[in-house]
Amino acid sequence: MNPATALRLHHFEPLSLANGPGRRAVLWLQGCTLACPGCFNPQTHPLEGGQQIAITDLLQELLLLRPTLDGLTISGGEPLLQLPALTNLLQALHRQTPLSVLLFSGFTWTQIQAMPGSPALLAEIDVLLAGPYQAKQRLAHGLLGSANKTVHLLSSRYQLTDLQATPPAEVCIDETGQIVLSGIDPLTWNDHEL
Ligand code: SF4
Repeated sequence: MNPATALRLHHFEPLSLANGPGRRAVLWLQGCTLACPGCFNPQTHPLEGGQQIAITDLLQELLLLRPTLDGLTISGGEPLLQLPALTNLLQALHRQTPLSVLLFSGFTWTQIQAMPGSPALLAEIDVLLAGPYQAKQRLAHGLLGSANKTVHLLSSRYQLTDLQATPPAEVCIDETGQIVLSGIDPLTWNDHEL
């Protein structure tokens, strides 16, 4: 598929309360080359993992969910490895909905600003959480995995207090019985014997 018209997806969650303010769909994009020690999502690292999905199909799904949502969160993996298709998806989304967008990236703010195409992407984003996860600075609060990560409020839509009020963990169970543990401080099977 064309890299500008399809995304490699790890998982899509249609409704989450722990990945940003309000009720949000979440896209975990597949592929990461940053190799942060202690990463919670190593299964998202292989660049050829997950499944490719056309952004037109993703958009259709988001439009169907639109009445139940305040916004969309994009995480990974490293979403900015798929910057052209992600920009296209968000531009199309904003032509048809006012959904807010929150993006987690392991790249620093300086690195992101230097990326070709980043101004167009950043124009579609309300909140950016930037920087690699550093286990020695683990925070797991207010949507910040570690204290070195930086928060960028790119629109007036949310305040820091909105991020700090986001629950740190949740358990989602879909209609097939699949369980997804998510949030900035996710539960684990061992600790809680789910
Ligand atoms: S950027 Fe995210 S997914 Fe990639 S290694 Fe770091 S914590 Fe893991």
